[in-house]
Amino acid sequence: QTGPGNPYRVVLLGASGVGKTAFASIFAGGTFEHEQKNEVCEKTVEVDGEPATITLLDTWDAESSQQCNMQTGDAYLLLYSITDRPSFLRASELRITLRQFRPVHHTPIILVGNKCDLVRRREVSVSEGRACAAVFDCKFIETSAAMQHNVWEAFHGIVRQLRLRRDSK
Ligand code: GDP
Repeated sequence: QTGPGNPYRVVLLGASGVGKTAFASIFAGGTFEHEQKNEVCEKTVEVDGEPATITLLDTWDAESSQQCNMQTGDAYLLLYSITDRPSFLRASELRITLRQFRPVHHTPIILVGNKCDLVRRREVSVSEGRACAAVFDCKFIETSAAMQHNVWEAFHGIVRQLRLRRDSK
């Protein structure tokens, strides 16, 4: 059971500019600002009628910061931008690195294709994103932080996965 004393640690990973800060600020309710390297925000949200406390860690793109969070997270939102193919490749690299830190089958991960509002600038198709998630054994969602589309669905999805893991223990 999570609560203020025992929150789920959810880590935002991804290349620079994919929308991690935008995600964190939606999570925090618009007050999130980058002042330190490992930003932390804790919040209790209701998912399927049950409260869940999440500590959200936003990593800067520094390798050291991402690696540090890879060791401490309970779950991961692995972001790329659908308008930026290199960020999609970076997400794959991060997934591989994550596998070295975390056992494959027990760590909830959602691959998040952000900026889906920018349809004309799309460089990564939905089916590529989905296929990548299948290969990497994680869930997939496309979001738009700018339109506030599917962002909470991503957070709720990660909580559901954490509960499934908890309940199967
Ligand atoms: P970070 O480097 O991963 O923290 O990325 P940011 O959250 O700072 O976002 C980088 C830029 O992309 C900013 O100018 C954001 O306003 C913009 N951005 C983030 N998410 C979206 C989105 O879903 N759609 C659009 N159009 N722009 C976005």
